[in-house]
This record gives sequence, C-alpha cells and structure tokens, in this order.
Amino acid sequence: MRSVKTIKNIKGKTALVRVDFNVPINDGKVEDDFRIRKALPTINFLIKKGAQIILITHLGKDGTASLEPVINHFFKISKLSKSKVEFFENVRKFPGEMDNNVHFERNLSRLGDFYVNEAFSVSHRAHTSIIGIPKHLPSYAGFQMEEEIKNLSKAIKNPKHPFLFILGGAKFSTKMPLIKKYLKLADYVFIGGALLDDFLKAEGYEVGKSLVDDSKGIEEILKNPKLILPIDVVVKSGNKLINRKVDEVGKDEIILDIGKESVNMLEPYIKKSKLILLNGPMGKYEEGGDKATKEILKRVIKSKAQVIIGGGDLVEVLSTLKAISLARPVGGYKLKPNMFVSTGGGATLEFLVNGTLPGIKALK
Ligand code: ADP
Ligand code: MG
Repeated sequence: MRSVKTIKNIKGKTALVRVDFNVPINDGKVEDDFRIRKALPTINFLIKKGAQIILITHLGKDGTASLEPVINHFFKISKLSKSKVEFFENVRKFPGEMDNNVHFERNLSRLGDFYVNEAFSVSHRAHTSIIGIPKHLPSYAGFQMEEEIKNLSKAIKNPKHPFLFILGGAKFSTKMPLIKKYLKLADYVFIGGALLDDFLKAEGYEVGKSLVDDSKGIEEILKNPKLILPIDVVVKSGNKLINRKVDEVGKDEIILDIGKESVNMLEPYIKKSKLILLNGPMGKYEEGGDKATKEILKRVIKSKAQVIIGGGDLVEVLSTLKAISLARPVGGYKLKPNMFVSTGGGATLEFLVNGTLPGIKALK
C-alpha cells in the first residue's frame, strides 16, 4: 500500500479522493463534523502539491440525501477554494456504486488521474468507489487511513504482552469472530455488555428480561481459561438500579451494566497489561448503565499500556469523559501518545479480525 506522500508529479493532476462524509445532518446542518475534519490533512496536502480534487462520498444508506449541507460545511471549515475542490454527487445515488457495475467503475475512474482512499470507515464495503476505481488508477492511502492501519495493526500483528482485550456491546453473533480471534492473540479477554447475558444464560443463571442474542458456540468459549467474566451486575428492578451478584438476578429484572466488584477485579489486569484493546460499552449506557464503562476507561487511560479503542458506541461514552479532551472543534482526539481511538465502527471490527479490508487490499 502506497502513501499519498509517495505520489510524484502531482501538479496539475486531478485526484479522486474517497472520503467518508456520511455525517449526521439535522435541520439542514451538519451536527458532528469530526469525519470531515479528519480528512482535511490529506486534502490540504494534495492541494499544496498542486492537485485538483474531486471528493467522493456517500451520505445516508440509500443515496437519496442531498450533499448540500455537507458541501456548505466543508467549504466553511476548510476555507478551500471551490476552484480547487469539487464534490461528486452522493455516490450511492448510482446503483453501480453498490453492485459494482463495470461501466460505472470506468466512468468514475476517468474523472481523475489518481485515486486516494481516505475513507477507512467504509473500506470494509466492496463498493465501486472503494475497490473498483483502484483497478484503473494509481491508488494511494490517505493519512488517516494510514494511521488507522498502523495503530490497529498493533493488536493483530505481534502484539505486546500481557495483552488484555476488554469487550462489550451487543449482538453476540457479530462479535463472535472477534472473541475467537482474541482468545488466541490476547492473554485475557474480559467480557461485559449484553454479551455477558449470553454467557450467564449459557451457564444456567437467571438473566430475567435482559437482552440475549441466543447465538451458538458459547459453551466452547466458556471453557477457555483466558476468558474473564464479571462477578456482579447492575440490574433495573422496577425503576430502581441495584447491584447484584451474577447469580442473584431476578426473573423480572434487566441487566443494565456490570457491577463495581467486576471493575475492581479487572483493575490488576489493566495495571499489568502492556497492550489493552477495548471495543463496545460494558452496559446499556443510554439508560443509566454507563458507570462501569466510564470507570474502566478512566483506569485504562491512566495505565501505561498501549491502548486501542474502537466501536462507535464506546467512543460515544469516551467522549463524555472529563478526564480527556476530545477537542473535536480543532479536529482530533487529544490523547496521550499511547492511545489510539479508531473511527471505523464496522470497518474497525473487521480489520481487527482479518488484519485488512477489501478497500485496503484494493490499494495494492
Ligand atoms: P460499539 O459500537 O462500541 O462496537 P456495539 O454496537 O456492539 O458497541 O454495542 C452497543 C450497544 O450495546 C449499545 O446500544 C448499548 O446500549 C448496548 N448494550 C451494552 N450493554 C448492554 C446491556 N447489558 N443490555 C442491553 N444493551 C446493552
Ligand atoms: Mg455500535
């Protein structure tokens, strides 16, 4: 994979840059421009070297959304000239984007002289603007793409040990490949979130009305000595929140979070680890089950380990912590150098399992 830094003779050329400006829009305004700001260093670099830019993005799932709010916001914050940067239309408006139509692929490619992928978070999708264009043009990775690969690779290629993986969130079936992979790569795998409910159920405990996924293969994982499971939980009982041992959950109760003792139990593992990977929140943080996630994040931030944080929902919780400044207004997470926050969501999970993505392979 080649970096944008290696492109020769940029002057006067047109760069097709795939970005992920799929940002939340409210009332015709961009609500969170983090993804836009993250792509600016690559765009500015190419312009400085004398390129013309065509930005390609999707917005929304089905391609019906107008890019207008994104375009207005982009020119407002970047202060770039419209004579240097153009936007292609919402690329999902064209059926050829998602079904890899060969004519669409060629037509898109002809718009530029070279291609840059600065859309890590879409690179798990085998879409035309991700894997099709690089078949026809010299192709490069943007700065943010390189950062993601460099940092996430620390978990999957020769990780430092002791290596602790802290996994939460929901939908067991989607996290199963991750669990299996890191039971091999890591030394300890701690599991919270709704994933815990599945383990408790498989062990025969009462889980009341908690969220379970009922996916298969859990018994096998339970036998693995690297697995660390919480010993207590916070349940919603009526409208009260109560700390309970995992074997004391009532029939009408809902597990909202993991408990205090579990966080304390995890602490020595956090302290002795040289690498900590986190994905997914420990509880239903949207409804008061945010305490354990915050406590764990605080302890992890204090540790000297290399820290890798991924998952849209976990990052949402992280962004509410006072302990660190996410400094979104100036376009970056202000974290210690040993911490990396991935912006990928589904792409991050897939990279953590496979060590690559379709969009990365396409750049070779
Ligand atoms: P991420 O985006 O960080 O990878 P996921 O998408 O896998 O995380 O999971 C996030 C979701 O998991 C959140 O909506 C959260 O409410 C839910 N969740 C976590 N713990 C529980 C729980 N104990 N019960 C119900 N939902 C939970
Ligand atoms: Mg999520």
